[in-house]
Amino acid sequence: MTNEINPASSPVNTAPRTATEIAANVLGEIAWASPTMGYCECPGKKSHSSKDGGKDCVVYLDHVPTVNCLHASCKTAVEATNKKLRAAILNPTGDASFEMRKPTAEERARIAERDLKSRMQLRARKSLPSILKKYRWPYAEILNDSPVDVKVSEENHWRLLLGKFQPDDVVWIGERDSSGKPENAANFRTVNEWLKCEWAPHQFLCPSTFKNNSWSRSNENVLARRFLVVESDLLTRDEVGAVFRYLGECGLKLVAVVDTAGKSLHGWFEFPADEELMNDLRLILPALKCDPKMLTASQPARLPSAMRGEKRQRLIFLAKEETKLVNEVN
Ligand SMILES: [Zn+2]
Repeated sequence: MTNEINPASSPVNTAPRTATEIAANVLGEIAWASPTMGYCECPGKKSHSSKDGGKDCVVYLDHVPTVNCLHASCKTAVEATNKKLRAAILNPTGDASFEMRKPTAEERARIAERDLKSRMQLRARKSLPSILKKYRWPYAEILNDSPVDVKVSEENHWRLLLGKFQPDDVVWIGERDSSGKPENAANFRTVNEWLKCEWAPHQFLCPSTFKNNSWSRSNENVLARRFLVVESDLLTRDEVGAVFRYLGECGLKLVAVVDTAGKSLHGWFEFPADEELMNDLRLILPALKCDPKMLTASQPARLPSAMRGEKRQRLIFLAKEETKLVNEVN
């Protein structure tokens, strides 16, 4: 008999349930983050000596079904649960002749990589307090450290940020709902066209560029990812700068910091070409209390110079141009 795993359907034709249902039966409620990965309560939770972080226990259904908890004290309970989980998914009929297939070398390598990532995430979460201390960069200091003086001409800040794109890049600028209808084609223009506007046209822009003739800000229409915008709803404006600086240490290049005229700051980084670094960031950023939704290519960010209620969105940091600024109107 086969014990290949198909998470979407049961591995055994005659079994009535899917692997995800069986896993929930063994582990209790699972918050699925992907079709094959979710978070559950650790089966050995009561032995945890440090505080449970809510996402400490992960269940994977790809390769060999596995529960993995970041704590060490629950090891015995987790191992016992893994036996139960694997038997329930791979041998749901209780076939006595069933033998657990050994993972291939490739699967073992992937499992090892997966475990390494779990540990990275835990390390990032645990090191946040020391990152906030060591890389401290409060609002006033960010403003003072800006290579380009952005204490002046706030009404032109949007031009400075657009100048970080290429002149022919098609950029979306709009309100949150300016997307999805043919008339929204007007929200997709090249940087050069946008710069003909007299003032900041709308509240939002997207850090990615779009295909020509787009009218929907969907991921399918994204042509290139120019910037990675990092934001935290949980860290204060005086705290989040430490994360921006720390990310600089990790190899990201900070291009701009935008005061959103709300509670948060947006750190604009050159989008990393290194796919591996990007994968690490997907893990690390949420552990550093940064918002993972900003990792989505088509997510809008705040356009400096635009008004948000009574307050103006503005740049508080801008890196020096390495090449000449794209454009000045007239
Ligand atoms: Zn545990």
